[in-house]
Amino acid sequence: MGEPRDSWLARGITLPLALGAAGIALHVLRADAYGQRLMTIAGIFVLLVLGYQIIFGRLGVLSLAQGAFFGIGAYATAILATRAGLPFVLTFPLSVAIPCILAAIVAVPVLRLESHYFALATLGLGQVLLIGAVNWESLTGGGNGIAGVPDIQILGRHIPRGLDLTVFVWVTVALAAAAAWQIGRGIFGHAAEIVREAPLAAGAAGIDAGRLRFAALVMSAGYGGGAGALYAHAIGVVSPDVLELPIMIACLSMAMVGGRLRIAGAVVGAVLLIHLPEWFRFLERYALFAYGAALLVAILAAPDGIVGALERLRRRYFPEPSRAAPAAIPFTPRPAGKATGPLLAIRGLSKSFGGVTAVDNVSLAMQRGEILGLIGPNGSGKTTLINAITGLVLPDRGRVYLAGRDITGRPAFAVARAGIARSFQTPQLADGLSALDNVAVARAAMAGMRLAPNLGTIGEDKMLARARGEAMTLLAELSLAGVAARLAGDLPHGARRRLEIARAMALEPLVLALDEPAAGLDPAEREVLGAILLGVAGRGLGLLVIEHDVKFLTGIAHRLACLDASRLIALGPPAEVVANPKVVAAYLGTPPAENMR
Ligand code: ADP
Ligand code: MG
Repeated sequence: MGEPRDSWLARGITLPLALGAAGIALHVLRADAYGQRLMTIAGIFVLLVLGYQIIFGRLGVLSLAQGAFFGIGAYATAILATRAGLPFVLTFPLSVAIPCILAAIVAVPVLRLESHYFALATLGLGQVLLIGAVNWESLTGGGNGIAGVPDIQILGRHIPRGLDLTVFVWVTVALAAAAAWQIGRGIFGHAAEIVREAPLAAGAAGIDAGRLRFAALVMSAGYGGGAGALYAHAIGVVSPDVLELPIMIACLSMAMVGGRLRIAGAVVGAVLLIHLPEWFRFLERYALFAYGAALLVAILAAPDGIVGALERLRRRYFPEPSRAAPAAIPFTPRPAGKATGPLLAIRGLSKSFGGVTAVDNVSLAMQRGEILGLIGPNGSGKTTLINAITGLVLPDRGRVYLAGRDITGRPAFAVARAGIARSFQTPQLADGLSALDNVAVARAAMAGMRLAPNLGTIGEDKMLARARGEAMTLLAELSLAGVAARLAGDLPHGARRRLEIARAMALEPLVLALDEPAAGLDPAEREVLGAILLGVAGRGLGLLVIEHDVKFLTGIAHRLACLDASRLIALGPPAEVVANPKVVAAYLGTPPAENMR
């Protein structure tokens, strides 16, 4: 015991998948016409939820547009098939493409909104389309909708409603699920997990979260459109119902009840919720109440959905055997450059929050290979200064130059890629990813991999393998090689701090900005950290290090800067700054000798 058991239950889903597929097939074959029809509708909703899982599950964005994409797909099929007489091989791809195009158009303005406004805006999209569908009678048939949507004809075969259509829908589900699995397992899936679980870490890892959300919304729209198209064929009539709220509510409930991260969650959620009203039918007028109560119980009892709860059980009894760490692949980071002038220059930087001035007209310059220590009392603006430099907050005034290039106001991920990498006062890591992958995804972002879905292609697999190998090199440099396969969330504090530095180094930075890297470390860990920082500076990088342990700082820093009440009050060699009466009064309080214990 002790060692995780290596069994199919630990490794993967082959058997549950085979059993589930066989169960569905058996049920469909034995069902009567009504049962088959329910399974057809269930399969269509699986498609809808599979897409919704990409934006709502993987990226954690509460979009309420999925119902609208479904409705557009249904109308597109009905209009193109009945009015233009197009065949299925054209109407289906168009019904997938049109919602994608719409999603791409609305994504640009809408994805900028904060989460609750985003939810409202996406809900509004459906309402606008609904009004359009009701009023543009010549195109949509108004309130009556469009009847006579023909059966599917494909490759010379006629797919009538009934068993043929049920099988067709579930084959489509299988293909769509395979695609969703590919989307989730590679760089996109890992980067999405960082965006969802640790948004600050995403920017610091060079991940363009906006681009990921954009891609996710467009993909979710494609799945929604495909589901709507099949729905039009299954029902034969498309009316404004397909754009109304119940579709969206059903989709959201299915994702919540089944599980929003796993493909099996879409299947379980959709099949269950389509059948639940049937099972409660004997309750007659209490059926709706029972349905609602069952939903509530499911969501409260299993916040990660039924599949999420089963997974947790499985992990408890059959823990996944930890994967062997890959072999390290060395790489040569970009050279720090030899151009004259400061590596990092900050000119007159100011930032206020409402009435509170956090940083007031601060100017600093840092040379290649220099370690600049930043000290000051709590609340003096140290963190805000680093946030303004690294694009986490937009400065009110002033400019930031990196090797002479003005990078003021660029978003955090762009600053990270441009060459200023950072750590946080409280480490920001994706706890559900391995230590290795926290670094490898940053490496992938840096290597210019277009963190857009690559559908898990062989090319992407190679890129990810390379990024992992290079990440191993960095982990080894920070004495983390032994914990590469452990989840970041399981690591002790000191290792988490070093892991943030490894992630920063993955971006091949010119400047490293560290926010209290020694906080919470024991003396031995501090010594290791000091040696690591000196080594990094020795390679020509500039280091900006916030630290309260003045002794630690004076041991490694070339100069110190002291902030007090948002202003720079001293800058110079450590011994001078520490002896400066203003610094003593504001920060050290006691004579330096005592403070440097
Ligand atoms: P330090 O890192 O030196 O302890 P901070 O930069 O965190 O200081 O904070 C400087 C000042 O700015 C404090 O008064 C703090 O309350 C304020 N502040 C920092 N971030 C925010 C924010 N996001 N919103 C409002 N006030 C903030
Ligand atoms: Mg701080």
